[in-house]
Amino acid sequence: MNLVLLGPPGSGKGTQAALLASRLGLHHLSAGDMLRDNVRAGSEVGKEALKYMDLGQLVPDGVVIAMVGKRMEEMNSGEGFILDGFPRTLEQAKALEEMLDELGLSLDVVVGIKVAEESLVRRLGGRLVCPQCHAVFHLEGAPPRRSRVCDYCGSELVRRADDEPGAVRLRFEAYRKATQPLISFYRSKGLWVEVSGEGDIDEVNESICAALGLVCHD
Ligand code: AMP
Repeated sequence: MNLVLLGPPGSGKGTQAALLASRLGLHHLSAGDMLRDNVRAGSEVGKEALKYMDLGQLVPDGVVIAMVGKRMEEMNSGEGFILDGFPRTLEQAKALEEMLDELGLSLDVVVGIKVAEESLVRRLGGRLVCPQCHAVFHLEGAPPRRSRVCDYCGSELVRRADDEPGAVRLRFEAYRKATQPLISFYRSKGLWVEVSGEGDIDEVNESICAALGLVCHD
């Protein structure tokens, strides 16, 4: 199965994509994680991306399309994939179609995760992430066992610079302007399904699995 998870910042795309990938045996391709890995490695892509990311702006299409395209080519496509955070613009969505065409693949479904803006602000405000293994925690909702230490790899957890209120406002604006038009794009192709992202992690995961007509478990 080849799917895209689409939703505003803080909707739980990354958490749900990781969970689904492990439950369904799919590749998880997170554009945000790829960009942050490039920033940490000090690559040219990372240097370019950093100019936009901390401010809450979208990285230019050309940079992201080339980065994701390379990863798609390297992936063993027979196993299926979940794209999280890509595409985020119409140009990226069209580039994705071309990439998949060239690889002889296509999308099966695009899952939209819907969450009210006040919940998103609360979630982003308390979010802590592991820079090493990309695990995500929340100070109230899903705290790590030891304060600011990753449960999975022991690295020190950090708050993302773009989770600061000013950057969050710009990220919402970018979502509304650039990403929301993808809803009608995918709806017109008959690929769009929508689930509520308001519950806890397992409830949302069950909703996604139900929307896909699947029974998901560890
Ligand atoms: P995320 O981890 O998905 O919240 O992404 C974090 C940041 O990375 C975004 O606010 C953008 O600056 C950048 N980014 C991630 N994915 C994309 C994309 N598909 N297009 C442009 N910028 C992106």
